[in-house]
Amino acid sequence: MYFSRLATYFERIEGKSSRLEITQILAELFNELNAEEIGQTVYLLQGRVAPLFEKTEFGMAEKTVIKSIVSSLNIDRPYFEKENRRLGDVGKTVEEFKKQYVSFEEKEMTINEVFLELERLAKSSGDGSNDIKVGILSGLIRQLDSKSCRFLVRIPQGMMRLGFSDMTIIDAYSWALCGSKQFRPEIEAAYHVRPDLGYIGRLIKEKGMEGIKKVTPHIFTPIIMMRAERLSSGEEIVKQLGECAVEPKYDGFRLQIHYSKKLNEVRLYSRNLEDVTLMYPDVVEGVKNEIHADEIIIEGEAIGYNPQIDQFLPFQETVQRKRKYDIEEKAREIPLKLFVFELLYNSGASFINEPFTKRREKLESVIDVQNNPKQNTIIIAPHTLLSDAARIEKTFDEAIADGLEGIIAKKLDGTYRPGARGWNWIKFKRSYSSKIHDTVDCLVMGYDTGKGKRTDFGIGAFLVGVYDEKEEVYKTVSKIGTGLTDEEWREMKKRCNKLQTKTKPAQYAIDKTMEVDMWVAPGIVVEIKADEITQSPNHTALFALRFPRLVRFRDDKSITDVTSFSEISALYTKQEA
Ligand code: AMP
Repeated sequence: MYFSRLATYFERIEGKSSRLEITQILAELFNELNAEEIGQTVYLLQGRVAPLFEKTEFGMAEKTVIKSIVSSLNIDRPYFEKENRRLGDVGKTVEEFKKQYVSFEEKEMTINEVFLELERLAKSSGDGSNDIKVGILSGLIRQLDSKSCRFLVRIPQGMMRLGFSDMTIIDAYSWALCGSKQFRPEIEAAYHVRPDLGYIGRLIKEKGMEGIKKVTPHIFTPIIMMRAERLSSGEEIVKQLGECAVEPKYDGFRLQIHYSKKLNEVRLYSRNLEDVTLMYPDVVEGVKNEIHADEIIIEGEAIGYNPQIDQFLPFQETVQRKRKYDIEEKAREIPLKLFVFELLYNSGASFINEPFTKRREKLESVIDVQNNPKQNTIIIAPHTLLSDAARIEKTFDEAIADGLEGIIAKKLDGTYRPGARGWNWIKFKRSYSSKIHDTVDCLVMGYDTGKGKRTDFGIGAFLVGVYDEKEEVYKTVSKIGTGLTDEEWREMKKRCNKLQTKTKPAQYAIDKTMEVDMWVAPGIVVEIKADEITQSPNHTALFALRFPRLVRFRDDKSITDVTSFSEISALYTKQEA
């Protein structure tokens, strides 16, 4: 398919806000594409040339994109910038200019040709790479037609934002196959094991649903991590699980480790599937030295450790290891210890459908169980088999006394369920001095520009919401205008700036009374502590958080990890009278 035809699809999608219509247009598009094209197109639809978990980034700011445009079309920069300010979008501006300045180099290019050029652009790095990037983009602008250019220049700026999620693409795959959502559950399950939409698309083209049913974990493709349900007493846990494995709940950050001995390569993925390998060289070394396997995928919680006093550090200190600069220096100051608790794959064999006991047995065979924090980096999470509510409570109290977050109880015959929050894992966390026993993870949906003192920050309150999995929309639970330090307000504004849009994202359900000055596209997850959950007609979730406070930004959580509508309803019912 020619890129110009793809651009007509982009244009059709851009004009729509109904999810169903977008899905149907995508399905129509997918049916026109071959296996190679569908893989590439799906990445381009997300403004990328690789799956989300791969580090390949364009690294082009608007400034550099404008430089490519003006050099390509040989136009005056101030004039272009003036027009750009008037139209408010580089894509539309370049389209207008292209219409007026006929280029003799213009020709049809296939999706594959454009994709390969964009891939070359994204992969060029080091000295002089900026000129190479500008050269590649200028060349494409000269060759493509005006409409194609509108979308082309948005790609390296990360401005594709056609307003749909991975789930819409999954739905569209189903629609392309059978004209309805019928295959979605199976495609989604495959995606949870291998969340590479390009791969899934190619597989569907080549092997259809038979291929989808057989998807297994793949080294260096992160598996969407399983999550825990919550309960707040030993008694409830025993009722739910009977005899179970109880492990300490470490308050650090979760890592999924992929290791190939043959390639001598380790990759670490965060909870939201970001490749964070470069941030944690000490963990990489630990894995190479202390894990005895040829090819393996395991999971654990990394936590900072102070060797002088032989103590683990609180989350606030551990999190300082999440950084892009001075990595080695911080690693010496705050070494990490990795408590491993899961094994998902080992040398060609998937373990996700095996019971917990079998996964644990295998895990114990690849790590020296005698490892200890003084000498080692990789330590197996200790666990005890318990079936007595009082003993569970006692273990919980001991964990709290040790400065841990609580415990995690695991179902002995439970499988690992990628991407699911389920009863195979149950977290039991320290209760707060409020009526609710847990914090709520919310999505930042928009904000009001500040009044009074806050005009300095440019933000006076922000709107947050939870995710309704059934309706697939975010619903509001609070507008938060207090409880942040000056520094946090500045940080919030900085983050909002990157994602703000004038139009309300299609997946937000909002009551009129909660409109905001500026919308924020899904991307910022915050942990909120509240005293109580009350019913509220003004919030679309029908619940409101009373006395909400920002606990922290949850960069480790992805936008689909936010508290769900059913969880908030459960928290509401369970709060203490
Ligand atoms: P959640 O992700 O909110 O469902 O809570 C579970 C989180 O607890 C996981 O994502 C891990 O980051 C963390 N965690 C800490 N210790 C453990 C453990 N022993 N087993 C599983 N998860 C753990």
